[in-house]
Amino acid sequence: MDKVIITCAVTGAETTKNQCPNLPVTPKEIADSAYECYLAGASIIHLHVRNNDGTPTSNLNVFKEAIDLIRKKCDVVIEITTGGAVGMTPEERILPVSLKPDMASLDCGTVNFGNDYIINTLPVMKMFASEMNKYNVKPTFECFDISHIISSHILIKEGLVKPPYHYGFVLNVPVALPYNHKILSDMIGLLPDQSEWTLMGIGRAHLPAIFGALSFDGNIRVGYEDNIYYSKGVVAKSNAEFVERAATLVKIAQKEVASPDDVRDFFKIK
Ligand code: ZN
Repeated sequence: MDKVIITCAVTGAETTKNQCPNLPVTPKEIADSAYECYLAGASIIHLHVRNNDGTPTSNLNVFKEAIDLIRKKCDVVIEITTGGAVGMTPEERILPVSLKPDMASLDCGTVNFGNDYIINTLPVMKMFASEMNKYNVKPTFECFDISHIISSHILIKEGLVKPPYHYGFVLNVPVALPYNHKILSDMIGLLPDQSEWTLMGIGRAHLPAIFGALSFDGNIRVGYEDNIYYSKGVVAKSNAEFVERAATLVKIAQKEVASPDDVRDFFKIK
């Protein structure tokens, strides 16, 4: 793909209103934030939803409300999480693919996650890929580690995921793989043909990862899920503020920002 896709992960499962007063939490807040991001140049919204008390949920009604509200406002590509939150069962996490979003994340392995951990066994990954096939949902292989790319090769070899492939590299999660150019280029080197990748630099890796994605011809993810600081000690006013900066950097790099239609065409999303 010759254009740059900007994804915004507007809410996530971990960020709280205490840390980040403008974090969108209700379906309406999430849809409003998604629309602002779309206007600023995001073509994919990565979606988590929350209960009224702010805790993460995989409740179908809440997901449906958020998806419907976003779709009423704009045609941005919707990628739901199936990573869910620490402690959810695989069955809970995969549930919202039945709502037929455009895309869904597919975590490709087990990893440390701060003081917690995320478990994804190969049978669970295969079950997730099969469910995504059933509902015609395009997976994003989320890789928190180099070995996760190897797991994705197994899903591809077994015909569970069809090209073109979308990878999400999640780097700088505490106690997991950090972000640097050497690690990034090693990961890119393991990708199969017909792959696009999006880089998520968590926390302070946020801005370096944007430059890394632009330097290595990848795609960008921003948003409160990955990082709340616009600059040192300054919490971003909104998700859209991150998208605006990313779109500006894409233009400075003499590249073009991809539209939702570009994303749907490239990944053959109907
Ligand atoms: Zn997520």
